[in-house]
Amino acid sequence: MKILKKMIPCSKYLSESIVEGVCILCNSKNIIDDKCLDCGTSNIPLFYLERKVNIKKHILKMSFSLSDAQKEASSFFLSHYKNRSAAFLNAVCGSGKTEVMYETILCSLNSGEKPLIAIPRKEIVRELYYRLKNVFPNTVIKYLDGENHDDNADLILSTVHQLINYKDEFDLIILDEADAFPYANNDFLKRLVQKALKKNGILFKMSATEKEFIEDDRYTMNRRYHGRNLSMPIFYKMKSKYVTSSNEFKEILNTNRKVIIYVSSVHKAEELSDELGCECCTSKNARTDEIINSFKKNNDKLLVSTTILERGITIKNLDCIIYDASETVFTHQTIIQICGRVGRSYDDPFGNIYIFFEKNSFKFDLVKSYIKRMNES
Ligand SMILES: [Zn+2]
Repeated sequence: MKILKKMIPCSKYLSESIVEGVCILCNSKNIIDDKCLDCGTSNIPLFYLERKVNIKKHILKMSFSLSDAQKEASSFFLSHYKNRSAAFLNAVCGSGKTEVMYETILCSLNSGEKPLIAIPRKEIVRELYYRLKNVFPNTVIKYLDGENHDDNADLILSTVHQLINYKDEFDLIILDEADAFPYANNDFLKRLVQKALKKNGILFKMSATEKEFIEDDRYTMNRRYHGRNLSMPIFYKMKSKYVTSSNEFKEILNTNRKVIIYVSSVHKAEELSDELGCECCTSKNARTDEIINSFKKNNDKLLVSTTILERGITIKNLDCIIYDASETVFTHQTIIQICGRVGRSYDDPFGNIYIFFEKNSFKFDLVKSYIKRMNES
């Protein structure tokens, strides 16, 4: 087992991972025969090393200015940060949630603290890393994905799972997509976040949708940062059962725009991408990062994906198709997230979403009423 924190022998954790019936790694009390049933560890030696803070001046360099709503949200979070109290940002997709946190992150860094941004999925951790590198040019940012270490890092980006290696470490944790798989309804991951946070640390949560009610003080941002409406999807009842060779959406592909086609399974994604002669992003494809980067930069117009790309990605000039939307993996939250992928920039504030379904469902009504509500407010 690889321990990410550089550790010194510390009397507190001495050399055992299970102490007095509690797992030091994941805080579980679910222990039998000195083995933790939640994270699988048994009594292995642990050595914690202090990660030193590098004292320096961090700067924030943005190539655009925040919208009025973002500015207001930003001061809301900054004041909660200064009062050391938790808060929740409930914001529509594309409203620029991460940007709202920049000032707070800067303040935390310049106070000699250890901040962290935690995200449920690793694809998005990397995407965020490349964005933040330009915004905080003086800051050493590291992302943890099981291979990278936190040496010399000022700001850490991490999946929630990677927090297993930390205890009482962070002064500020910003948890993105707090309602998403795998974090939502997962007590194990919630314990990891609490364990990694210092006793007086602050937890900010962000999400576009809200599956579980979040009790913290909240700020709601209904508008996308360019002030335009979210696109309402166009629904099509499929003429027949799902087949990859379907002509149903072929017409849509005749545009100058980029298109991501979402399907419900890895198998379908592989089949369809073979047929269309394009790349596919699935959890089984190790080249996902590379594929997304090349899709963004190059002339590739078409990409097939499972719900793995439901969140976090920002691509210009994009339309989306959900091809078998009746499948249960497309929950109404997932569909809303996918709808939020289009029209994310000033130069391209609109985009099209096409939803193909076999059976009508209440979830489609939920999607429509959510988008209507957000656009009206
Ligand atoms: Zn454990």
